[in-house]
Amino acid sequence: MDQLIEFAIYGFIALLILIVLVIYIRKQRRESDEVGVKIAQAKEDGIHEPVSLHPFVDPNRCIKSGACIDACPEEDILGIRHGKATVINASHCIGHGACLRACPVEAISLRIGTEKRGVDLPDMNPNFETNVPGIFIAGELGGMGLIKNAVTQGREAVDNIVKILKKESPAEYDLIVVGAGPAGISATLAAKKNNLKVLTLEQDTLGGTVFTFPRSKIVMTSPMDLPLHGKVKFNETSKTELLNLWHSVLSKNNIIIRENSKVEAITSENGIFRAELLSGEQYTTQAVLLAIGRRGTPRKLNVTGEDTEKVAYRLLEPEDISNKNVLVVGGGDSAVESALLLADNNKVTLSYRSANFSRLKPKNAEKINTSIKNGLINVRFNSNIVSIENGLVLYTENDSEEVLRLDNDLVFIFAGGELPTQFLKKAGIKISTKYGETILKN
Ligand SMILES: Cc1cc2nc3c(=O)[nH]c(=O)nc-3n(C[C@H](O)[C@H](O)[C@H](O)COP(=O)(O)OP(=O)(O)OC[C@H]3O[C@@H](n4cnc5c(N)ncnc54)[C@H](O)[C@@H]3O)c2cc1C
Ligand code: SF4
Repeated sequence: MDQLIEFAIYGFIALLILIVLVIYIRKQRRESDEVGVKIAQAKEDGIHEPVSLHPFVDPNRCIKSGACIDACPEEDILGIRHGKATVINASHCIGHGACLRACPVEAISLRIGTEKRGVDLPDMNPNFETNVPGIFIAGELGGMGLIKNAVTQGREAVDNIVKILKKESPAEYDLIVVGAGPAGISATLAAKKNNLKVLTLEQDTLGGTVFTFPRSKIVMTSPMDLPLHGKVKFNETSKTELLNLWHSVLSKNNIIIRENSKVEAITSENGIFRAELLSGEQYTTQAVLLAIGRRGTPRKLNVTGEDTEKVAYRLLEPEDISNKNVLVVGGGDSAVESALLLADNNKVTLSYRSANFSRLKPKNAEKINTSIKNGLINVRFNSNIVSIENGLVLYTENDSEEVLRLDNDLVFIFAGGELPTQFLKKAGIKISTKYGETILKN
């Protein structure tokens, strides 16, 4: 009898263990399947392959702790599949490195480029100087993302620039900083701290990529040293708080950064550099710091009226725009997503020069087709903008010479961008393509 009870107890425990094991295996399988579905979707959406920095998981080391997934502040960049960590939306990685710090067995490194998709990076030495003596690079353009890294590199690059400057020079400036994102701002402050004659030129708005963040985004960063200010003790902050800090330090030190001043080319003669602006202005300098990031310059339509205030090349706060006649130009995902966001509260026309959309993410294609059917967005295929006027836009359609009119308050242009590669090559800077080079590891 005792033996029977003992047998029943052991049998019950074994059954319990079996049930727990089955539930566990099923959960693992379900999660694995879910990650598989997400990867398939990411491939379809073109965001599975990384465009820049991304985590690389060594499958022989990974013990499936999941610590990297919990640590990553972004969504669905990593997931566990078939018992190993794997990348899902690799192109959304912004290079925090939180994943690699969290991994208990050092199975993650951050790499740039992959075997399939190389990434062009300018050559530079540990002092941030390129192969062209006198031209330096700081921030994301050099391959390393993040606000703190950009701020640190901007400051350190200037410390090196100071060492190569001559006391006497016919140049107008000691240093021209191109770009006013975190790297350019920090470099400008460091230059002022070192009493350099500095000019900072920004093609757009002070703040760089940070200026384009949504107002509600939580900006993850870590304490950093900002020249002429000291320690910035943020771990989490907002776009507004960061921009306010930069504006306040710059104005306290009487520094004016020239916005809306795109540098078209850097040339050199007799050891002096010349920065040539889109506006035609030119300035000479002993040294140049390129802090232009990696996002490039929005391509323009080159039509009359494009330089007016109602024209923009990005949509920052769609919820603030209502009851307007809006024209969105372009046929890619950015154009379509912006048109869809604006369509609820505005009268939106989308002008695209081709006969149909051919390269949209499936979800965007579905949504725009539904909006067209429901009359929410007026799409003008085969159309070209002729000019942007006060209160209206003139355009042509289907190769006809007849000029048509469209009531208009705002224009958003998404005609692609020019990457900085050509700009760098024109300045004589060597570029190397990286196919999976490790940038950061434990
Ligand atoms: C969606 C998103 C979220 C992110 N979140 C975070 C985060 O939470 N925390 C974090 O630390 N980092 C984050 N990052 C990364 C961070 O924004 C960048 O690493 C950082 O802004 C890089 O700074 P930078 O100064 O090198 O370049 P940028 O900020 O890109 O600035 C470059 C500037 O140069 C200007 N420029 C370019 N060409 C020219 C030219 N020819 N003439 C004049 N000016 C020119 C541009 O207009 C731009 O203002 C995020 C990035 C993205 C895209
Ligand atoms: S580097 Fe940052 S964004 Fe990229 S996976 Fe790691 S934690 Fe996430």
